[in-house]
Amino acid sequence: MKKERVLIVGGGFGGVKAALELCDDNRFDVTLLSDDHNFRYYPTLYHAATGGKRANAIIPLATFFAKRSVTLVTGTATTLDRKAKTITTSQGEVHDYDTLILALGVVTNYFGIPGLAEFSYGIKSAEQVERFKAHLHQQLVDDHKPDLNYVIVGGGPTGIELAGALPQYLKQLMRSHGIQHRQVHIDLVEAAPRLMPKAPRDVARVLSRRLRRLGVRLHVGKVVQGQTANRLTVSGKPIQSHTVIWTAGVTNNPFFSDNGFVLTKRGKVATDIYLQAEDNIFVLGDNANTPHSGLAQTAVTDGKFVADNLKRRIHGRSYKSYAAEEPWNVIPVGKHWAFASRGSFRTYGILGWFLREAADLVAFHDYEPWQAAGKQWLTEFGSEESCQICQTAIGE
Ligand SMILES: Cc1cc2nc3c(=O)[nH]c(=O)nc-3n(C[C@H](O)[C@H](O)[C@H](O)COP(=O)(O)OP(=O)(O)OC[C@H]3O[C@@H](n4cnc5c(N)ncnc54)[C@H](O)[C@@H]3O)c2cc1C
Repeated sequence: MKKERVLIVGGGFGGVKAALELCDDNRFDVTLLSDDHNFRYYPTLYHAATGGKRANAIIPLATFFAKRSVTLVTGTATTLDRKAKTITTSQGEVHDYDTLILALGVVTNYFGIPGLAEFSYGIKSAEQVERFKAHLHQQLVDDHKPDLNYVIVGGGPTGIELAGALPQYLKQLMRSHGIQHRQVHIDLVEAAPRLMPKAPRDVARVLSRRLRRLGVRLHVGKVVQGQTANRLTVSGKPIQSHTVIWTAGVTNNPFFSDNGFVLTKRGKVATDIYLQAEDNIFVLGDNANTPHSGLAQTAVTDGKFVADNLKRRIHGRSYKSYAAEEPWNVIPVGKHWAFASRGSFRTYGILGWFLREAADLVAFHDYEPWQAAGKQWLTEFGSEESCQICQTAIGE
């Protein structure tokens, strides 16, 4: 029996889910090509950036495919040849396919604002998280005092989560570095008139109140204009800081514009009701123009949806149409507190936090059996520092 060669590009939420669903069916020959040999569990990267365990957010792709028949390849897809049905990587490798699934995620966008690419920090990858943490530690070692201001740009979930966790983390770092506690200023800057501009107004109200209670200063309706090594200019006014974390902008992966895909006004790839952009080319998750694109749950659902349809097709059945699922929004802000909403449902506080923990466990189970998912989930508890001073302090 000739197998259908499915090439999946992107080892994130959508791509890995699609690979796991397809590899159980021996009519498919599945290859997963990704530029990173790790899977990034983005929802807890902010936690890894504020003292949590790295292993909670960064998981080797091989973990998911240890006993599965998926060929894992590391490489960066650059060129699609529609006629030859191949993807070429920047390393010069050529991969054939019968069916192509693209789930490449988004990339950071600085909107051309001067200085940001050079001086700001990010928390979108293991490397960015390490760089950010090394900076926090180094500053305490060099100056024996914290920065004047820690500025987070972006009032979406990532910025809010980081702003909620940073005060406690900085307190802990000052203690472990033997520095007398001082009040630190944490500023959260958002260009829209309120936090979470895409969510209903009441969501912003609750989250703003919580952040203010944690001592975070909110600058809404304020626009970042430029950054230097020690200053951020926000709506004409300078904020002195060596620590600016940019969480504000993402844009679709350039692979799609580079390879002539049809993009919508939102910059997402236009697809049909089967998430098919072109004949036998499917697009998932953050890349696709679906109503809830931009959320991990959407990418997981998309991965499963496309895999199910491919299985239907190979068994001679017709495709099912895509139906967008109402997502949960669960945003942790500080210790044991989270805001959870879905449609008109709202809860926050410790109950929200329990929901968030449950959501993480369920999310890990999307990729692993319950026992392994439970083990992965447990890495959420406990801390990890690579700084020698902190390790000594923790060990004392
Ligand atoms: C910091 C942060 C926190 C988040 N928190 C939440 C949250 O709490 N809840 C939630 O629902 N969503 C959250 N999100 C959004 C969520 O993570 C994304 O919606 C989700 O990851 C999208 O899945 P995806 O498969 O489309 O892309 P991704 O998961 O981003 O996967 C894309 C993969 O493609 C690889 N890749 C990229 N380009 C290439 C290339 N050219 N060749 C080969 N491989 C390539 C990447 O390395 C990556 O492995 C967060 C995002 C970030 C950045």
